[in-house]
Amino acid sequence: MNDALARAESLIDLTPDYPEPGVLFRDISPLIADGPALRAVADALVEPFAGRFDIVGGIEARGFLLAGYVAAITGVGMLAIRKAGKLPKPAAAVSYSLEYGTASIEAPGVLQPGERVLLLDDVLATGGTLAAAQQLIRDLGAEVAGSAVVLELTDLGGRAHAGGDVHTVFTATE
Ligand code: AMP
Repeated sequence: MNDALARAESLIDLTPDYPEPGVLFRDISPLIADGPALRAVADALVEPFAGRFDIVGGIEARGFLLAGYVAAITGVGMLAIRKAGKLPKPAAAVSYSLEYGTASIEAPGVLQPGERVLLLDDVLATGGTLAAAQQLIRDLGAEVAGSAVVLELTDLGGRAHAGGDVHTVFTATE
């Protein structure tokens, strides 16, 4: 790992027992707020996928920040994958299980058939969110070019849940 990435990793803020007891929350806000760190992480996120995607899909909410930035530096557009109930005309929706209950994500009908979408999010935990986003892209008739996250929590089995092929910049246990 180069110095810029090591510094970026050190900027991820840890909060124990948030948003509920037993969860160690990883907040990338300080990393996003730092220009060189954000650039280094954005470059690392897309590096394996150079020339192999047509649009970047960001998962609400921190995925939006990553995807908007990556779209700008690579010259592609951005798909905002929303939590349910925020879009006037959702073209597809996918529900998935959370530890307690279920959640849904939706997307607008802006993809071309076969368009190659690079999915981005901040943290891979159980993988439910990323697996749902992958399904959403397929339901829209587009293609998942790849999935990349800033931080993978390796003990939670998310990689297998999200199809095994997830590119991660940083890893941590728990
Ligand atoms: P999962 O669907 O379990 O992989 O959870 C991934 C989503 O929940 C991502 O969009 C993250 O923003 C968020 N998330 C889950 N666990 C954490 C955590 N420990 N710290 C920060 N965000 C998390």
